[in-house]
Amino acid sequence: MLELKPMPINSKDVTWIEEPEIGFWEATFLPAIVKGLKTTLGHITQYQPVTQQYPEVRPELPQHYRGLHRLNRDEKGRVKCVACMLCATACPANCIAIEAAPAPPDWPDRDKYPSTFVLDELRCIYCGMCEEACPVDAIELTHIYDVTGETRQEMVFDKLKLLEIYDETKDNPKDPVRTGRGRLGPASEFGALPTLGPATPVVREDRAAASATSGVIGPPPPEPGKR
Ligand code: SF4
Ligand code: SF4
Repeated sequence: MLELKPMPINSKDVTWIEEPEIGFWEATFLPAIVKGLKTTLGHITQYQPVTQQYPEVRPELPQHYRGLHRLNRDEKGRVKCVACMLCATACPANCIAIEAAPAPPDWPDRDKYPSTFVLDELRCIYCGMCEEACPVDAIELTHIYDVTGETRQEMVFDKLKLLEIYDETKDNPKDPVRTGRGRLGPASEFGALPTLGPATPVVREDRAAASATSGVIGPPPPEPGKR
C-alpha cells in the first residue's frame, strides 16, 4: 500500500490569518441590519425597473442573437444547400442529419442537394458553428427564440419546416439574409480581397506568399541560376 509522507511546511509559504474579534455592537448584528436597511431604502427611493414584462413586452435581442435555424433559398427559390455536410461535421451536438442526392438535371449549378435535412432543435446548443461552416450561406440562425412543441418529435425540424422559417423571416429586418456576398459566400470573394504585400519575408517555396494578388497562386520564382 502506498504510504504518503507528510510534506515539510515552509513557514514562508503559509499566510496565517487571525479570526477578527467581534465587538459588542457587531455581536448584536445592529450595524449589519442598519446597513442592509439603508440599501433597501436606497432601492425604494431610487427605483429603476429592470424586469422585462415578458410576454407583453418582447425583449430587444442583440443583432447577433442565435435562435431557431432556417434553410435559405437561392434566387430561384430552390434550397440553397448543396449537401456538402460541413455543417453536420462541425456541429458539436451532432444534431444535424442530411441525406444527399444527385441534383435534378435542371439544376446544372450543383452536383448534389439535400434530399432530407433534419435538425433537432432540442439537442442544439445554438453555438452557430453550422452557420460559420456553411460555404454557401444556406443555414442561418434567426431571432426566433419562443418556439415550443408538445412532443420532442415536433422540435425535430425537417427541410420543409426549415425552409418555411426562411419564408417567414427573410423580410424581417432583424433577420436579413446575410448572404449578400455572392452565390458562394465569403470564400468566393477571396479574389476580390485587397492586394496586400507579404507581411513576412517570402520563402522561395511559399507560392501563396509570393503571389502578388490575394487568392491567386502564381508560379514559384525561378531558382537562382535557372530561368
Ligand atoms: S447551432 Fe451549433 S449545435 Fe446547433 S445545429 Fe448549429 S452547430 Fe449544431
Ligand atoms: S454546410 Fe451548408 S451547404 Fe453544406 S450541408 Fe450544411 S447547410 Fe448544406
